[in-house]
This record gives sequence, structure tokens and C-alpha cells, in this order.
Amino acid sequence: MYCPCCNKRKLVFCHNQEMISDSKQNVVCPICASLPRHRVLCAIFDERDFDFTKTLLYNQHQCITDWLDVYEVDYQAAEELQSPPPPDTFTFIHYDYQLQTVPCTKAALTELYRITAKGGTVAVTAPIDVDAFVTIEDKTITTPHARAEAYGYPNCVRLFGRDLLEMLEAAGFEVEIFYGWKYPEEIAPWCKPYVHDSNRIYMCKK
Ligand SMILES: [Zn+2]
Repeated sequence: MYCPCCNKRKLVFCHNQEMISDSKQNVVCPICASLPRHRVLCAIFDERDFDFTKTLLYNQHQCITDWLDVYEVDYQAAEELQSPPPPDTFTFIHYDYQLQTVPCTKAALTELYRITAKGGTVAVTAPIDVDAFVTIEDKTITTPHARAEAYGYPNCVRLFGRDLLEMLEAAGFEVEIFYGWKYPEEIAPWCKPYVHDSNRIYMCKK
């Protein structure tokens, strides 16, 4: 097996029992703890050119920063932002597994679009029920247990359907979807490490 995040070969991926999953597959890189969606993202980094001049990371992962460190990318963690950034600031944003937890999807995407530089890219991932056409969101579901039952995770407030694409486009982005199953099996033995892991990354260009 191969991990494009830490660029190591001959790996045996591990199982992480703490993951909320019914999967028994071994999907975690033993070196950098990457998951399949992180390895697919770094494989995309390897094959496409992105402008990492001003990079912002939500839900920062060592496996992604390992890749960025090799290329001496100067990144910033979203939780370290002291105040809302000026418009058109970031040339690349990794928005990993955030959108299912924010109070308002539309407001979050409007803000993401605002802070993205013209020509910049936001890589969005979220749990998605790819069999559902529309997103499920019920304001009466408020307890962690009920949320886990409805959406797959105790901290989620919605479960996206295939209409996530329209939401991203409505925010103003030009969206290209990258499908994990198009990448070599050696990096992404798919997998369902998380519930509703959709095996797709939405590359959103401003
Ligand atoms: Zn790795």
C-alpha cells in the first residue's frame, strides 16, 4: 500500500476502533494517520497545480500538513483566526468535515466564498448519503443520541444528499467532483471509515 500524504510505500494500513463505523477494513496510515479521503486529496495535489500561497486548514490533520511541509507551504489553522479575514484572502482552503456541523449551510458557504481569493480553491468534504437527492435537516432533532441516529454522528445537524453540489454552486463556486474510486486501490481501499463517507471531494473554484 502507498500513502501519498507521507509518501511512504510498503505500508500496511491499520484499523481504528475509535471510528464510528461498521467497517472492519484497515484504512488508517500507520505513519501519518491519513484516511482514504486524505490520501485521495494528496494524490490530487500531486497531479494538479493549486495555489497554496495563502492556505487555510479547517479540521487540521497532520497527514495533510506533512504533504504541505514537504513543499514548504505556509498554512494557517482556521481556529487560530483572530477575526474574520478580509475578502478574497485565501488561495486554498481545506474545508474537511465541517459543513455538516455548522448552524447554517448557506451562511457558512457564503463566508467561505467571501474569504476565498479570486481563482482560489476550496476542497470540501462532508458526510453524504449519495443515495439521497436532498439533504435531511430537522431542527427538532437536538440531542447527540438522536443526531447520531438521524445523521450518523452525534455532532451533526444535517446529512447531505446529492443536492450539496447545488448548494456549493449557489454560493458562487465552480465545482469539480473528484471520486475516490478513480484513484489506485493501493491508496484508498474503499472503505467506509466513517458513516456516509461519500468517497468524493468537491473542488470548489472561485
Ligand atoms: Zn501516511
